[in-house]
Amino acid sequence: MPAPIVRSWGNVLTAEHRLLSVRERAADFPDIAPARSVLPFGNGRSYGDSCLNCGEALLQTRSLDRFMAFDAAAGTLACEAGVLLDEILRLTVPRGWFMPVTPGTRFVTLGGAIANDVHGKNHHRAGTLGAHVRRLELLRSDGQRLICSAERETELFAATIAGLGLTGLVTWAELQLRPIAGPMLEVETIRFADLEEFLALCAESDRTHEYTVAWIDCLGRGRSLGRGLFQRANHSSTAAAPAAAAEHLSVPFTPPFSLVNRASLRLFNLAYYHRQRGKRRRSLQHFAPFFYPLDGVRNWNRLYGPRGLYQYQCVLPGPAGRAATALLLERIARSGQGSFLAVLKQFGSAASPGMLSFPREGITLALDFPNRGEALSRLFTELDAVVRDAGGRLYPAKDGRMPGELFRSGYPRWREFARLIDPRCSSSFWRRVTEGA
Ligand SMILES: Cc1cc2nc3c(=O)[nH]c(=O)nc-3n(C[C@H](O)[C@H](O)[C@H](O)COP(=O)(O)OP(=O)(O)OC[C@H]3O[C@@H](n4cnc5c(N)ncnc54)[C@H](O)[C@@H]3O)c2cc1C
Repeated sequence: MPAPIVRSWGNVLTAEHRLLSVRERAADFPDIAPARSVLPFGNGRSYGDSCLNCGEALLQTRSLDRFMAFDAAAGTLACEAGVLLDEILRLTVPRGWFMPVTPGTRFVTLGGAIANDVHGKNHHRAGTLGAHVRRLELLRSDGQRLICSAERETELFAATIAGLGLTGLVTWAELQLRPIAGPMLEVETIRFADLEEFLALCAESDRTHEYTVAWIDCLGRGRSLGRGLFQRANHSSTAAAPAAAAEHLSVPFTPPFSLVNRASLRLFNLAYYHRQRGKRRRSLQHFAPFFYPLDGVRNWNRLYGPRGLYQYQCVLPGPAGRAATALLLERIARSGQGSFLAVLKQFGSAASPGMLSFPREGITLALDFPNRGEALSRLFTELDAVVRDAGGRLYPAKDGRMPGELFRSGYPRWREFARLIDPRCSSSFWRRVTEGA
């Protein structure tokens, strides 16, 4: 029987894997023979090869799906690592608690979110998810079960947060949630003309708003370079809960060619930018469309056709970050290859707890690109040079192609981390970025 093919979210990389699964948290670490290495697999929402172990074994974790303890007075929740954030929110929101940090999709597992130390629109206030993990259990391939936290097994804790699944299997974790009055947010959307205005809005809003993010028109050039829509929001004090918009759209199969092309992009970006007539608009929004706009179209990644998509997400630190962001936007606009949603966010100064955590203080830019082969590789090489010169780094969760030296210069603690890798764990990403080093 042929080995199963597993894809990651970008659909660019597909590979045969030996699939193992873990039935319950008390189970032993599985026998992986005849594979030489194994990688825990969450819900496959990473874009590139950080969740793949091509030709080797994957350990599926979705069956670790039990809630273990929820203290509705203190807002602490312990659950197994294969539980989806969506399932957590269904339990906790009606009881007045929200995820302390959430990425832009709720269809990720808790284990996957910890292994990438995910960030959200509240990074400037809350830092990364890892800062809210009170403790976790790590199962190593030699059978050891270690409870890791900021106080116990501190080195393994710092390696496992953003540990890319390489330090062993996280079987369960305990989180500190954030109190809310209800599921609604007070949202303000503001049109901005350029990067200067974006930065001024960040400086003003970081003090007053828990969530900030901006969408930018990646096709804008000259005077339109860096224009976009800035969103800022706070949880509403109203407990009223209009029903969330039903999810009704889905892309049922991969079309034979990409529906994302220059013409559709230009139309989309223009329409999106001009959808708001006035400079400012206030609204009361349910958390689902606010945090997870893309979850409304199931399998939207299939719109990119059989060649798939890449995402490019970088962070550009310090004072050089502004000029470097402008340079990136310029290069992307000139190439005409950018995507529907280019997202810009100012990360705050909170230190990330993981040795390989992506966020650091600075500007982060994230864009999807239809896979156009050579033309896209050339553009990425140009963008990499800007990121390298600015002392920035790329996000492994979104990556499937960054050169090894860019990873190693962006993540100077990678050697310290490498010592803590479980001897039976490996990934396609890790082999690629450390090869020859
Ligand atoms: C639409 C979309 C929006 C996104 N927005 C954001 C965002 O705003 N911010 C952000 O930070 N990220 C974002 N992401 C990336 C996403 O949050 C991460 O890739 C996340 O790690 C995916 O979780 P998963 O459960 O699908 O895990 P997978 O993608 O399957 O695996 C991710 C990593 O976790 C490891 N892993 C999984 N389970 C375990 C376990 N139990 N023990 C140890 N290791 C484990 C895997 O080995 C792998 O290295 C987004 C992704 C998408 C598709």
